[in-house]
Amino acid sequence: MSLYLRDATFIDWRTLEFTRGDLEVDEGDGGGIRLAEEIPAYGCVYDCGGRLVTKAFVIGHHHIYSALARGMPAPKRTPRNFVEILELIWWNIDRKLDAAMIRSCAQVVALEAALHGCTFIIDHHASPGAPSDSLHIIAEALDEIGISHLLCYELSDRDGAGARDAGLRETEAYLRQRPGLVGLHASFTVKDELLERAVGMARDFKTGVHIHVAEAASDEEHCMAEHGCTVAERLERAGALESTATLLAHCLHLTPAERAIVQDSNAWVVHNTQSNQNNNVGRFDPKGLGDRIFIGTDGMHSDVLAATRAMYLEGQAAGGLAPLAAYRRMRRVHDYLEANRIPGDGENNLVILDYPPPTPLTPENFPGHMMYGLSSRHVHAVISDGRVIMRDRQVLSADVSEVLAEARVQAQRLWEML
Ligand SMILES: [Zn+2]
Repeated sequence: MSLYLRDATFIDWRTLEFTRGDLEVDEGDGGGIRLAEEIPAYGCVYDCGGRLVTKAFVIGHHHIYSALARGMPAPKRTPRNFVEILELIWWNIDRKLDAAMIRSCAQVVALEAALHGCTFIIDHHASPGAPSDSLHIIAEALDEIGISHLLCYELSDRDGAGARDAGLRETEAYLRQRPGLVGLHASFTVKDELLERAVGMARDFKTGVHIHVAEAASDEEHCMAEHGCTVAERLERAGALESTATLLAHCLHLTPAERAIVQDSNAWVVHNTQSNQNNNVGRFDPKGLGDRIFIGTDGMHSDVLAATRAMYLEGQAAGGLAPLAAYRRMRRVHDYLEANRIPGDGENNLVILDYPPPTPLTPENFPGHMMYGLSSRHVHAVISDGRVIMRDRQVLSADVSEVLAEARVQAQRLWEML
């Protein structure tokens, strides 16, 4: 059944053209939207009252498994570098996760995504203590709240051959049933045999790999010492850059030659400004990487507008970034999903913004309003695959207080194990 949005100020996410009128929104995956000539007497109607309506947002790289870490106790000692941040914090957490904790993580992230106007998450999951069925648990929790997804399990040699093989089994079991990616942690924890098996699996399932690349300089140093080449060269030789679905997260410490390899490949780059700042690993420079770049939150939060503003401000230090260029980079993920025919990001994924502008608002300056004014507190309602999943800042598809209470119980269990 169609949903009718009465009196919407529709902003086309591609052209930024404004149209005021009634919209008909198809229900279901891949559904469309169109101006409605008239609203049927018994139609399902949402009155927008002239509010802005535009395409919902997508998080290009997330770590749902980190959701219970907020406010957790400090690690045994202060990490001195990026690898120690992984060893002392994130690998200590992900090894302890069990099914109940993973489910709470996914529910919390889905709630926050819905509140922030996001209807699609590309996630990179790790739970070496409980790999089996972990991706299905996440998928079901996101489905229940109405968040579409492209998931993967983080394959790595960091926990030995048993954990590696369990990760491969989980990846294969998931890809047999759902679209997804083949996750790899990073070059420095992935041996040649695993890289080869992962790329082979991605080929078999006609998908790509999703890997952290040169997030810290140590990834490159390890690759040169262990494999005698740069990370991008290693991935290229293994065939990991051939798929148009391949995602390379971070790409901070690439040489000019590596940038050329990435640009000439089919892979996409995901930029995570706030995580880079949090880990003090360096600043992203898009130079020489081409234009297949979009943005992620890397587990920091589920707020695309906040991530876009951070990326925009960071861009000023890297030679300048126009509001329109930042807007386009935030939106580029829709092209990635469409090019790879990944379901869940049709035109019937919409956000209704309650944003009374204090200055004139036009198609030309909408990106400027987004960088300096619009924030997730203006997200009034969210439509996912043609269904309203959040309205008046209330998530409809979950008992929010119940989900949060359960998450606090699971977080306490996790923290006691750290
Ligand atoms: Zn990441």
